[in-house]
Amino acid sequence: MRVGFGYDVHKFAEKRRLILGGVDIPFQYGLLGHSDADVLLHAICDALLGAMGEGDIGRDCPDTDPRYKGISSLELLGRVCQLLKTKGFHLVNIDSTIVAQNPRLAEYLPDMSANIATTLSCAGSQVNIKATTTEGLGFTGRGEGIAAYAVVLIGKV
Ligand SMILES: [Zn+2]
Repeated sequence: MRVGFGYDVHKFAEKRRLILGGVDIPFQYGLLGHSDADVLLHAICDALLGAMGEGDIGRDCPDTDPRYKGISSLELLGRVCQLLKTKGFHLVNIDSTIVAQNPRLAEYLPDMSANIATTLSCAGSQVNIKATTTEGLGFTGRGEGIAAYAVVLIGKV
């Protein structure tokens, strides 16, 4: 068994779509980034890569590489999943938290979980996603961006 941890932040920008866990969420701002800036999926990718001892998503998919411009982060997660299989690991579970003052995310969490479970070919019950605010404190509280944390457990049979 191996544990991994991931953390990511993206700042809000105008004229960007807000995509979290592969779900398009209607909001006045989106997140800024080279890819689709899906902060939750980036945290999960980093947690999986960390558990495998494979560095982080920046090493695998550098933001200087034009191939990754605007790429769906579900695709990045799929690549990480492929590496997981290649190395003989299976996913035990993911737990994650999105930190955002706005918008309210509760109604989108089941779809995010389903997207991630589909990409990783696992059960929805293995992918837990929570959302919280910081009660107005800090950069997330001021609505400057969104942060996400993820921990994963992987194992070899
Ligand atoms: Zn990111």
